[in-house]
This record gives sequence, C-alpha cells and structure tokens, in this order.
Amino acid sequence: MPTDYEELRDAVARLCGQYQGAYWRALDRDMAYPTEFVEALTEAGWLSILIPENYGGAGLPLSAAAVVLEEIQATGCNGGACHAQMYTMGTLLRHGSDAQKAEYLPKIASGDLRLQAFGVTEPTAGTDTGSLKTTAVRDGDDFVINGQKIWTSRADHSDLMLLLARTTPLIEGMKKTMGLSVILVDMREAKDNGLTIRPIRTMMNHATTEVFFDNLRVPVKNLIGEEGQGFKYILTGMNAERILIAAECVGDAKWFIEKATIYAKEREVFGRPIGQNQGIQFPIAKAFTNMRAAELMVKEALRLYELGENPGAEANMAKMLAADASFEAANMCIQTYGGFGFAEEFDIERKFRETRLYQTAPISTNLILSYLSEHVLGLPRSY
Ligand SMILES: Cc1cc2nc3c(=O)[nH]c(=O)nc-3n(C[C@H](O)[C@H](O)[C@H](O)COP(=O)(O)OP(=O)(O)OC[C@H]3O[C@@H](n4cnc5c(N)ncnc54)[C@H](O)[C@@H]3O)c2cc1C
Repeated sequence: MPTDYEELRDAVARLCGQYQGAYWRALDRDMAYPTEFVEALTEAGWLSILIPENYGGAGLPLSAAAVVLEEIQATGCNGGACHAQMYTMGTLLRHGSDAQKAEYLPKIASGDLRLQAFGVTEPTAGTDTGSLKTTAVRDGDDFVINGQKIWTSRADHSDLMLLLARTTPLIEGMKKTMGLSVILVDMREAKDNGLTIRPIRTMMNHATTEVFFDNLRVPVKNLIGEEGQGFKYILTGMNAERILIAAECVGDAKWFIEKATIYAKEREVFGRPIGQNQGIQFPIAKAFTNMRAAELMVKEALRLYELGENPGAEANMAKMLAADASFEAANMCIQTYGGFGFAEEFDIERKFRETRLYQTAPISTNLILSYLSEHVLGLPRSY
C-alpha cells in the first residue's frame, strides 16, 4: 500500500526551492539543459530511488518515485530533463544479466553514468513500433547498427541509450513485434564512430534529438535479455513510465491551481478580487476536481502495481486523466492571469508549453483510448 512519503516530499520541495522561475526561464530562452538541477537531484539520490540497495540505490517502490516527480513539477521545476532515468533503468533491472546489472546499475546510482536516453520512436514507423526500420545485424562479437531514431530525448546529456532495433528481418506471416531486441548503446564510444545526434528545437525546452546510426558497432554482450524479445521488455516498462508521467502531470496541475488561486484572491478589477466572480472561481474549482480525480487514479495504479499486478488499464487511465487535468489547469491559469498569463516572467506560459507534451508523449491520448476500447471494453481493434 503506497504511503504518502511526506518527509521525502518536503526534502524534494526544499531542493527544488533553490531552482526557481528565473533559473528555468534562462534555460528556456537558450534551450539549455538544466545540468545543475539534474546533478543536484542525482547527488540527493532521488534519480536512483528505484535502484535496489545492493546496487547502490534507495530500493524504494514506484510510489516514492511518483512523489519525487510530482513534487518537482508542483514546485514549478521540470523533471522532463531526467525522468526517464527512473523508468528506463527498469528494463536493465528486470531483463539485464547479473553481469550487466553489476557493471551499470551502481554507476547509474552514483551518477557516474547517465542512462537518460530511450531510442524507440522512428520517423516513418511512428506509433506503429513493430514497423521500425533500425537494424542490428550480428558480425562476430558485434552488432552493426543502421537506421534512425527520432525524438530521442536527452541523447546529448546521456552516456547510455537503451535502443530498440530489429535483429531478425521481418518476413511474411511473422508478428511484427517479434524479432526486435533491446541493446544498451554506450554513446561515449559511439559518438562520431557511427552515431550522430542532432538536436530538434521544440516549443518547450526538452533536449530532444534525432539520432542516426551508420554502421555503428556495439558489442553483442550489450544485448539486454533474449534476442528478439525486446518489444515485450519495452512493454513491461510502460506501466511504470505512464504512472510516473501521470504523477508529473498531477504535480503540474497542482502548480497551476495554486498559482491561479493566489492570483484570483489578490488581483482586483472593478474594485473586487477577480476570484469573487464565478467565471473565475468555477474553472479553478473544476481544474481542482479533475486534478483530484487524476491523483486518485494514479494512486490506484500505484497500489495495483505495487501488489505485483499488471495495471495496464489503470496506468493508461491515470496518464490520460492526469495529462488532461494538467493541460486544463494550464489553460485555466492563463485565463485567470489575463494578459499577464502570456508574460514570460510569471512562468505560466512556459509551464503551459511544457505540460502540453503529455497529451502526445510518451503515448498519445488516442492510443490510450484505443487500448481501453480493445483491452478493457472488448471492442474490435481499430488498427
Ligand atoms: C518532445 C518529445 C519527446 C519525446 N521523447 C521520446 C523519447 O525519449 N524516446 C522515444 O522513443 N520517443 C519519444 N517521443 C516520441 C513520442 O512517444 C511520440 O511522438 C508519440 O508516441 C506519438 O508518435 P508519433 O509522433 O510518431 O505520432 P504518429 O504515430 O505519427 O501519430 C500522429 C497522430 O495520429 C494518431 N494516431 C496514429 N495512429 C492512430 C490510431 N491507430 N488510432 C488513432 N490515432 C492514431 C496519434 O495518436 C497522433 O495523434 C517524444 C516525442 C516528443 C514530441
């Protein structure tokens, strides 16, 4: 049963308090990576909270990681720069060999190695992951990798990348999610040796990139788990990813609601606080209601996850409800602030842009609805 981790929440809030709006605004202007913030989180041990104690982490359950990420967002910071380290590591932990875990996990826990990059999405395949075209072909003790990924976030700020590539050619009659493998790419050796990373400028500061593989050689010993089973391994990590992103969205929604509530009490127009008008109150109350509903679904997904169940429906619903709640709260907050909502100095327009992402990534709302339609309601598969 998840606890509330109040001490952890307070400690995260204290650290985040040192990284206020001016810090994030400066980074946002330059599209720069929050190195100092990520280092502080790493040093405090919060990015390794899920790594077992025998590998140097805190060995805490997923609800502790959810508290960390929710609190980062609720204080106005942005965990998008490093959140993947928490869930990407899970693939290595669950499916890596003892030797791989012993080699990498302690260094990830100590911050000596960064595992921030997750290369799944490709420009032509998009959501249809089974159609990805990046290949890894065995040649002696190496895989030779060719292809391209897109939206590989944080690749420029990570030492390792967890890559999904096709190791068995797709032939007629074969399930297209078979023959894919997960390979750990050491990008320190790979850069300029067959790996090229190009940053993509986006509407928010997210350090995302496109990555090109041109005869990149990676030792076969970096294969995670069994060859050909990679899609299954990635899928098993997705519930954790969705629940953690949902927790971040709940944090964002809390930030917007608090900002709007304070402003609505202070700002006077027509000789009275704007918050006295129901046209201003009701959207705040509605955003609060939706945030609470999402928060409860996150808790339910965490409860089932920590019982060892496979809460695909709850993780997906939590992600959708929370992404909707955070974006609705963002919109409400801009409206409450009137013109000032658009001014950079209040951070609302920045957070508005940042939280918009979660309607699309790491899974778009349409695909969540398709999952629920097919797997929960038993409706015919739509694609
Ligand atoms: C800033 C950013 C960071 C990201 N970081 C990463 C990362 O680190 N690693 C990584 O691998 N990926 C990452 N992604 C990729 C992200 O997961 C995808 O963008 C997302 O899953 C949607 O896929 P797509 O962009 O290929 O859209 P497409 O698959 O091209 O779809 C376009 C639209 O059509 C809809 N659609 C497609 N098929 C269906 C269907 N059958 N039914 C209904 N609607 C459908 C989609 O929902 C979407 O709205 C990131 C994306 C962004 C924008």
